[in-house]
Amino acid sequence: MELIFEKSVANHRCTLLPKLDVPLYEIDKSVARDTPFDLPEIAEIDLVRHYTKLSKETFGIDDGFYPLGSCTMKYNPKINETVASLKGFTDISPISSPEDVQGALQVYYESEQVLCEVTGMDHISFQPGAGAHGEFSGLLIIKKYHQSRGDFNRNKIIIPDSAHGTNPASAAMNGFKVITIPSKDGLVDLDELDKVLDDTVAGLMLTNPNTLGLYDSGILEITKKVHSYGGLCYYDGANLNAIMGVCKPGAMGFDCIHLNLHKTFSTPHGGGGPGVGACGCRDFLYPFLMNPRIIKTNKNEYAFEESGLSVGKVTAFYGNFLIVVRTLTYLKHLGCNGLREVSDNAVLNANYLRVKLKDTFNVAFDKICMHEFVLDLSSYKEKYGIRAIDICKRMIDFDMHPPTMYFPLIVHEALMFEPTETEGKQTLDKVVEILKNIAIEAKSGSVDLTKAPYTKSYKRMDEVKAAREPILRYVHEK
Ligand SMILES: *Cc1c(COP(=O)(O)O)cnc(C)c1O
Repeated sequence: MELIFEKSVANHRCTLLPKLDVPLYEIDKSVARDTPFDLPEIAEIDLVRHYTKLSKETFGIDDGFYPLGSCTMKYNPKINETVASLKGFTDISPISSPEDVQGALQVYYESEQVLCEVTGMDHISFQPGAGAHGEFSGLLIIKKYHQSRGDFNRNKIIIPDSAHGTNPASAAMNGFKVITIPSKDGLVDLDELDKVLDDTVAGLMLTNPNTLGLYDSGILEITKKVHSYGGLCYYDGANLNAIMGVCKPGAMGFDCIHLNLHKTFSTPHGGGGPGVGACGCRDFLYPFLMNPRIIKTNKNEYAFEESGLSVGKVTAFYGNFLIVVRTLTYLKHLGCNGLREVSDNAVLNANYLRVKLKDTFNVAFDKICMHEFVLDLSSYKEKYGIRAIDICKRMIDFDMHPPTMYFPLIVHEALMFEPTETEGKQTLDKVVEILKNIAIEAKSGSVDLTKAPYTKSYKRMDEVKAAREPILRYVHEK
């Protein structure tokens, strides 16, 4: 597809600017460019066609089934967008004084209250822009906590081998040594945990349910063990979709958490776009939480508060505000019982799909799962030379987004499905039918799956090349 710059024709225009109604001001030559800025010149119709075509080359949750494991790609209700586009929210400035933006501060305050109730935390900051950023900020808090007590020897973070890659990355970025412990039957192996616990451990990072979709029933013992050595427990909340209204990370013994508002709380997600990795903590960590915090004064007004021990700020201003507006809309829209229903149905849908597929594909750790489950396609690779990626590429031909593949790393030829609560039975049945047909193609060789997809404008991509030799700049021809 041609780039918008390549479609440019000299002097083509869309007249978008209103008539000048102020005196013309000449920009001082000392600050002006020497050469004109190279912008595409294009007529409105060509502009519309360009972006409409581009939008058809992509695939989003509004296009079809999108079962990314671990990432909770659920439908984003349109009411969220309606509320987030209200002028009172879109037209305020982050440098307004608090008395002028009481409504916005109330959104933050109320979202914090509700999410504290859901998670069993005492405070939440909405500054981090993603889950990974929340992890980084949470570990910063844990580090600061130990240091504030004069405890400078704690340089290790324990992470199970089923963890998301951002966990060890966040620990390493905070200067911690990452201690990986092997899992047993997909869960934390308590004996392995015992082996690495000592007074140099700063904390443990855990996702529960974990990335295999399994709830770690030993969780109370795990957090107790870590605490008994003076370590803290960090909860990666990316999988909260499975447990809302059922149990709370705080009750599991966690001290500090992040939530991915762009996952669990139905705000747009993907392409690295604006998210919120809300970072929560228990009371004893509050002094270290990000500055500024939003409080309600005894005059019932919202105001900012700072702590001298805080890790400081981790973003410009207060983070991605409109994502929090969407979150609060979603929370209020669903209410208390609705949230519980979300999790119940997310778990039901995952188990429905798991049971329907288990005779066709091997399920890794086949037992009742939470919101997601993992297929192990090693036998397809061995017997038919068909890999997980081939099945994924064939799914694209049937207008489904492939699930997460080759993750978690402890399962070979992994396909990780998370249908989420927003899919109906009809969709799930259709998905099962298509996947069973793809399995027949794999076994019979009637379609060469190693070359799929066949029906899209882009065929099989060289994914390694894109990662190794990315072309990130457009060079203007002159
Ligand atoms: C998505 C995810 C993260 C990282 O969150 P981002 O918002 O993508 O940075 C961390 N842990 C788990 C388990 C996840 O699924």
